[in-house]
Amino acid sequence: MKWPVNEKNMAPLSVWILGDQLLHSHPALLAAESLVERSQIQVVLIESERRKGRLPYHRKKLVLLLSAMRHYVEELRSAGYAVEYRRAPTMLEGLRQHVAAHRPERVLTMAAAEYRGRQFQQRLSDLLGVPVDVLPNTQFLCGRFDPFPNTEKKVILETFYRAMRRRWGLLLDAQGEPVGGAWNFDRENRKPLPRRGLAIPPPIRFAPDAITAQVMHEVAALPHGVGRVDGFDLAVTRHDAERAREDFLYHRLPNFGPYEDAMSCSSAVLFHSLLSPYLNIGLLDPLETVQRAEQAYYEGHAPLASVEGFIRQIIGWREYIYWQYWRQMPGLLTANGWGFTRAMPRLFWDAATPMNCLRSVVSRVLELGYCHHIERLMVICNFCMLAGIDPAAVNEWFLSFYVDAYEWVVSPNVIGMGMNADGGQTATKPYIASANYIHKMSDYCAECRLNPKLRTGADACPYNFLYWNFLLEHEETLRANPRLGPAVLGLKHLTPEERAAIRAQAVQFLEELPLYHREEA
Ligand code: FAD
Ligand code: SF4
Repeated sequence: MKWPVNEKNMAPLSVWILGDQLLHSHPALLAAESLVERSQIQVVLIESERRKGRLPYHRKKLVLLLSAMRHYVEELRSAGYAVEYRRAPTMLEGLRQHVAAHRPERVLTMAAAEYRGRQFQQRLSDLLGVPVDVLPNTQFLCGRFDPFPNTEKKVILETFYRAMRRRWGLLLDAQGEPVGGAWNFDRENRKPLPRRGLAIPPPIRFAPDAITAQVMHEVAALPHGVGRVDGFDLAVTRHDAERAREDFLYHRLPNFGPYEDAMSCSSAVLFHSLLSPYLNIGLLDPLETVQRAEQAYYEGHAPLASVEGFIRQIIGWREYIYWQYWRQMPGLLTANGWGFTRAMPRLFWDAATPMNCLRSVVSRVLELGYCHHIERLMVICNFCMLAGIDPAAVNEWFLSFYVDAYEWVVSPNVIGMGMNADGGQTATKPYIASANYIHKMSDYCAECRLNPKLRTGADACPYNFLYWNFLLEHEETLRANPRLGPAVLGLKHLTPEERAAIRAQAVQFLEELPLYHREEA
């Protein structure tokens, strides 16, 4: 990018910082400081009413975002910046008011992580009548280094991950080969919790301070939203987010790998990090986070299988998902490879279902705005996929209900991975499973009134008849997929009577499933 002047004497500059870009070294601030004195910089953050109300968001998400923004303003002010925190009906209106009040020579900002935001930034110079410089996004490692720029070929996660690991020199030996002689340790990971139980250190909690308490009060008064503000205990400053990271690294990371896929009634977080809310709004830097995990390994605090597994989630999955988002937008939002049309079931709003796994996970999400990866994929999306729910509706539900939800991460995960609606761009197979998987990986079935072993009948688990019904309905398509072909082979053991019973029970279950209608909100 070419700067118009190099001397530190130009007219005032404005730096517009988006609410999910609360970075320690914000590139627009650094760029502005290379041009003018700090006293010539006016920083602006905008709380837009329209943005807050775009969907009925989880109230804890709004508290996190708004409180973190207001704390960030304090952080910048104590570093000597003039900062304006402006509330406005829309983002554009807020920026117009700011420009009218401060008359900056130009506005600097960092590219939004999301498509709609970036489209808006591209038109901003015209809309404001002031030059606007949009700097590259540095929140993602692939924003700093794209391992496969402009490729038309399909890139699978493993290829992407190895390229990232080499580029950032993580867990590599002196020859540049993976430490421990392997790129992944999945065989040592992915276990259910031991039956004898295991002590699970709960994540560190943060009591709301005066700023957060004020935000909680405001958010509780908003006309719509899901969940409650009560019990909010997330970090809202960089300092506390870093404490949350250290808490994870020293207390839960050692068991992260083995129990990454385990699910339990007893804990929502288990050995997961609960760091996505902070990574996604810039309070934590992804590179620093994986480097701290690597250090924990070298200092002997955590085994390689867990550390590699965690690093893979961040520089592999998280970056790959962002990369896929930008490769597939804007078409991703309407992708519907399986042609599903059913609306979301009402149980996703009230957790009213006899299915213990779904009831527990949805209740958890209503309470916390969080459940971990496998519950998102194998309990919620698995059900939605088997029930043929419209991927756009599932996408919207996820965007509404989670504290860490943003379009760049939700859409590839939900539409791509969970609902397999993007023609296999994000994942090479649909993630569908019968009750067997949930039974093996969790303790949910032990407390369920339905039977995970029965395929049909009054007590049969719906994951079973819906799964077999799905195989029957899509047999030809699935047979063509080398990763799912073997699952379809099981169909040959079904008698015509068993097939008919499965179909009949699935049809009846889906017909009787109460659906959610927007006007109920
Ligand atoms: P951990 O299990 O501790 O993992 C560490 C970090 O790895 C996470 O904090 C996250 O930053 C990253 N990560 C791991 N997997 C993914 C992935 N598939 N995509 C992106 N980042 C990943 N993640 C979100 O941040 N926001 C979402 O709204 C979101 N929605 C999801 C919806 C579905 C259907 C699925 C299958 C996954 C979704 N994910 C989402 C990814 C993942 O489930 C969450 O990042 C993770 O559960 C957050 O909890 P954690 O911080 O305890 O993660
Ligand atoms: Fe879930 Fe079925 Fe197990 Fe019940 S029996 S907990 S519905 S998988």
